[in-house]
Amino acid sequence: MLRAVHDCGATRTRSQLTRDLGLARGTASVLVAGLAEDGLLHEEPAPEHARGRPTQVPGPHARGPLALAVDIREDAWELAACELGGRATVLGVRPHDGTPEGVLGPLGETIAAHARRLGSRVIGTGVALAGPVRHGGLVDIAHLGWRSVDVPRLLGLTPAPIVGNDTAFAALAEARRGRLQGVRVGLHLHVDFDLGGVLIVDGRPLAGASGTGAEFGHMPLTGDERPCPCGATGCWSMDVGANALLRHVGLAHGGGRGREQAELVLTTSQEAVTANATALGRGIAALVNAHDPEVVILSGHGAELYERAGETLLAACEPGLMTIRRDHPPRIEASALGWRGSLLGAMESVFDAFLTPEGLGRWRENHLDQGGDTPEEQNVTHSTLKGDKSP
Ligand SMILES: [Zn+2]
Repeated sequence: MLRAVHDCGATRTRSQLTRDLGLARGTASVLVAGLAEDGLLHEEPAPEHARGRPTQVPGPHARGPLALAVDIREDAWELAACELGGRATVLGVRPHDGTPEGVLGPLGETIAAHARRLGSRVIGTGVALAGPVRHGGLVDIAHLGWRSVDVPRLLGLTPAPIVGNDTAFAALAEARRGRLQGVRVGLHLHVDFDLGGVLIVDGRPLAGASGTGAEFGHMPLTGDERPCPCGATGCWSMDVGANALLRHVGLAHGGGRGREQAELVLTTSQEAVTANATALGRGIAALVNAHDPEVVILSGHGAELYERAGETLLAACEPGLMTIRRDHPPRIEASALGWRGSLLGAMESVFDAFLTPEGLGRWRENHLDQGGDTPEEQNVTHSTLKGDKSP
């Protein structure tokens, strides 16, 4: 029930959810009452309903679980608190100096301060980073000179945060509440300072053996031969993203600097946009040949490149497709979540860990006396649940 409420964004009525889950009406109403008593759900009347009995919509409880989610980009981070159902409240956006200590020390303190304020409502923290994440927390961000940075240790949070790659998180969010919903094999490309890519199979980013699978931005897909900061040569991501836009017009680039200037280039230099869109299209063709995805989703600057130079991108993609692919090429679409995908994916990873018997068991232990929508309801449902728990 909680998973269904979360995934639908707390938009479906209790009777719709009852049908979706194949429950008897009485079972659903006992279930919802128990979850309300545990401080996990709260029902509100549907905004509009036909004549007859008012319809209730289960959604987040006012004292219910909160996932903290952070998107650490190369020049700034954004922190949000997210309710069951996925609504995010931004708690802060702050630029940083790009060093591991300068980013993660103050961020860890900020998160800890919010966690103290919000108390036992906080069920965990998810952290998105713009680089490959190995073994749950060792992060490399080539442009910033990060090499095997132990992100959980420097954040210093208890319990340890869930750390993941920004593109993989963006793709996870897209699979849950965007254009990759119900897609069996999809390709997600996230463009910020450079390009990240990941393959989504049955709603999950393909993780790889150590967690760093599908680094498509670091494949030689465009015939370039320059060395990439990642250590390889001729990487695709050298030609797509803010760094590539800046380089194209002869401006300084790298080190996570120049976001505003790159946005200006995006709106004023058709030549730089064309070069980026062409490289993006050529690389997409190679990946489509390899993976046969149903759809290719573009987020971040990728969506803007597609909007500004979609024809150029498609014209660069088509000649690279095998004949068998050219007859039925996959759809190429802009993300439904814009720049928010990585943050929302970090949130999803926290709820994935919470919506388990272990996660809910811990919540119940910490909230034995705190639930209840109203004192009256609490008294009624409390005795019912007590009966269930201690036969
Ligand atoms: Zn590279």
